[in-house]
Amino acid sequence: MYSTLPTAGLNTRLRQLVDAQEISAYRVFDGSLIEAELLTLGKSWLMRRYFPESYKRIRPLHQLLGTFVDLRCVNCSASLLEKPDFERLGAIIAFVSPAASDRGSEKDAIYWACKGACDHTMQRRYHERGMTTAWEDVSDLVMPNQFLLWLIAIMSGLRKGDTYSDEAFAALRQFIIAISQKVFREITDAERTRLQELMEMDG
Ligand SMILES: [Zn+2]
Repeated sequence: MYSTLPTAGLNTRLRQLVDAQEISAYRVFDGSLIEAELLTLGKSWLMRRYFPESYKRIRPLHQLLGTFVDLRCVNCSASLLEKPDFERLGAIIAFVSPAASDRGSEKDAIYWACKGACDHTMQRRYHERGMTTAWEDVSDLVMPNQFLLWLIAIMSGLRKGDTYSDEAFAALRQFIIAISQKVFREITDAERTRLQELMEMDG
């Protein structure tokens, strides 16, 4: 139950109910508790349904594949997608290639890190091993149009002969799933039902 603040009368009544053992306990959800609940992973559908305008603005993470796929800075382990000020602090994804590789067509490794000190540490580490790095801003890639163009560029690169080590390809797949949780829209209730049917058919 939620209004701006529970009235003194309501508080008294709730206490009386507990004292009389008609209810065992109660909890008043204030604004911050409601917000915390709505922003919990896996609850974004609630937000889309009841607060569509805020949903568009906040763009919460949602679980696309049943479990949340995290993206942690390879240097300091900070969760990059869950950072509350994600857009301001920033994160990068970097493609690592041998320096001699023709325009970086050989992808040996892919990493993601906080922008700044963490990324510099990682860059140094790879440069010392004779590698070059090409990076993208993760906050650019969570824009749907930019994400799409980036995916198409990767597909075109593959067609032109870009190669990925097994490790780099697995990392790329993890990254795409992880940021899709922020890029893609939440499914509708009808789609949720249909998804269930599809999963049962596959199952
Ligand atoms: Zn970091």
